Amino acid sequence: MSYKPTVLLDVDDVIAKYTEFYIHLATEVTGVWFEPKDVTEWDIVAALKLKPETDLEIRELMNQRCTSIPCDEKAKEAVNKLHEISNVVFVTAPLNYGEWVAKRYTWLKTHFPWMEYYYPCKDKSFVAGDVFVDDRAENLLKWHDRCVLRFNGRGTAILWDTTFNQNAPTESDNGQPLIRTRDWEVVIGNVKDCR
Ligand SMILES: [Mg+2]
Repeated sequence: MSYKPTVLLDVDDVIAKYTEFYIHLATEVTGVWFEPKDVTEWDIVAALKLKPETDLEIRELMNQRCTSIPCDEKAKEAVNKLHEISNVVFVTAPLNYGEWVAKRYTWLKTHFPWMEYYYPCKDKSFVAGDVFVDDRAENLLKWHDRCVLRFNGRGTAILWDTTFNQNAPTESDNGQPLIRTRDWEVVIGNVKDCR
């Protein structure tokens, strides 16, 4: 029997359209029209030039309505394919360790009823896998340094390309490059290569 690889998937802005939903809520709260292309840096509050109290208001709404965050249809299709060839582990940093964690579980079960592995955690570098997809380069680099170099000895880090991570580092301190893509076939190809 061939080896069944494990793929770690970040959720927000890889599968769930978090930033798009945040922008929708920002428009609702402020009455100002924002678009996804306005978010050109990781700090969305700075990118949209929002006041901290506006961000708090948006986050409160986000917490209330997070089960309504849209799922990216292409991602859904690809993740279903990944499920056929690998162990799919959802590794996602919760907005809070209160109701967000349970609501995110509901969201994942709604879109991926077969879901078995769901790890809500702020530090993803303790979670082992063959391939890790995230839109935050820092998460991937930390994972590479701890999980790949110290524990596992192998692992592929894939940076999901977004408008707000264009200036992110794409190489770890020891020169390990991240693969930057927003093509699910690249992810599926890398997972298949682990078998
Ligand atoms: Mg993310």
